[in-house]
Amino acid sequence: MLEKRNFYINGGWVAPREGRDLQVIDPSTEDTCAIISLGGQADTDAAVAAARAALPDWMHADPADRLALVKRIGEVYAARAQDMAQAISLEMGAPIDMARSSQVGAGAAHIRNFITAFDKIRFIEPLGDHAPDDRIIREAVGVCALITPWNWPMNQVTLKVIPALLAGCTMVLKPSEIAPLSSIIWSEILHEAGTPPGVYNMVNGDGAGVGTQLSTHADVDMVSFTGSTRAGIAISKNAAETLKRVHLELGGKGANIIFADADEKAVQRGAAHCFNNSGQSCNAPTRMLVQRDIYDSAVETARTLAGNTAVGPANASGRHIGPVVSQAQFDKIQDLIAKGISEGARLVAGGLGRPEGVNRGYFVRPTVFADVSNDMTIAREEIFGPVLSIIPFDTEDDALRIANDTVYGLTNYVQSGDGACRNRMARHLRAGMIEMNGKSRGAGAPFGGMKQSGNGREGGIWGIEDFLEVKAVSGWDSAAG
Ligand code: NAD
Repeated sequence: MLEKRNFYINGGWVAPREGRDLQVIDPSTEDTCAIISLGGQADTDAAVAAARAALPDWMHADPADRLALVKRIGEVYAARAQDMAQAISLEMGAPIDMARSSQVGAGAAHIRNFITAFDKIRFIEPLGDHAPDDRIIREAVGVCALITPWNWPMNQVTLKVIPALLAGCTMVLKPSEIAPLSSIIWSEILHEAGTPPGVYNMVNGDGAGVGTQLSTHADVDMVSFTGSTRAGIAISKNAAETLKRVHLELGGKGANIIFADADEKAVQRGAAHCFNNSGQSCNAPTRMLVQRDIYDSAVETARTLAGNTAVGPANASGRHIGPVVSQAQFDKIQDLIAKGISEGARLVAGGLGRPEGVNRGYFVRPTVFADVSNDMTIAREEIFGPVLSIIPFDTEDDALRIANDTVYGLTNYVQSGDGACRNRMARHLRAGMIEMNGKSRGAGAPFGGMKQSGNGREGGIWGIEDFLEVKAVSGWDSAAG
């Protein structure tokens, strides 16, 4: 049994000042796989004080030194890739091969992309020829609280810690208490890479404890949060008292609009994407909108795909999907599947209970509902499990109306052979990201949502700028440098 009670504060591992134990559960077996500590106010205060003390030197350090640190972090991260994959697989149930390639790989890609984007950030630049003595200075926002979820642990941690470091911010990371093991390794990586004491700190805790203490803390300047819309609202209210900058990456209910002239792999690709990571992705295309002419065959294709999607333990090699993360998630998903049935959607694959022959672990059957209407609960709420809802539509206008009829606005998808139609959809869909014909966004593209999916942009230059303040200076002495 792993015992990982300590926190990383001011450059070293320290015992909790007022911690209480929490068991980390392996979702494949339901057994306890580790013990961590949930910190209290004294732990939060110590971490914030360390970050505050380290801020002046770090924010005024040569940007080249900050870049050099991030490059070292990238090297150590690559060297620890196996440990990281094991930790993620154990704590949140990603099958080991997928943990290695996608989960750990996402973090490596973000580190690389931020290194490239950093070149484009101008920490000081002239306003324009009309005002030769003016300068625009970009400087760190200050002490940041970084609060992350469990579903893509290193994806989300690197999307926050790396740009915060590059911008010159100091920080306290509070990873999800459900998946804390990867962030403990991450903290070891930052230590080994030579991060100056206090610049990066990590305290484990839950939302009601450390999460709330950070969002209300007088010495925290910004909260960058990824997680549920529920917690995003609570954090925004808590942070309002001290007018912190709040950056939110929240839930989604992505529409995948499949026109009759879409390529022949479109339905299969969309269903597989929905089931990836056991459906636990904020950008999952969970509402499949299919044009009436190809509706029946699309339902058949999705049914077959679901039937061929194997479910298995996280430590087994292969292309199966793993369990969902926790008993609470399992129960929530079962409840929503039951609602889909009782509200009249047609169950064509999967359904209630565990897959046949499985009686332990939080395994969910890959599930497809057809004849879903957009006002049913399964079309409105984020399920966060391998559950696809198929909705028929007739015209382009119908598809647009249904897709935009949601409180969320994170990622929408369009499949069509008609370029003009795709471009019209891309202009009119209200979401932060539109991915079409199976093309994923390029390296350095911003990730983030509209409406109740949040307000921040992560990745690329936008991701670094979110951690920077803009300062307007006049009377600058160019000769003095
Ligand atoms: P969650 O909101 O329950 O928890 C996320 C983090 O917030 C955890 O660290 C948790 O301890 C903390 N937290 C919870 N309540 C808090 C509070 N009141 N104050 C401060 N901190 C609090 O979410 P989750 O279940 O861990 O993650 C799943 C959610 O995250 C889904 O809704 C998903 O869509 C969303 N998500 C969004 C993105 C994105 O970029 N838009 C990416 C991944 C996940």
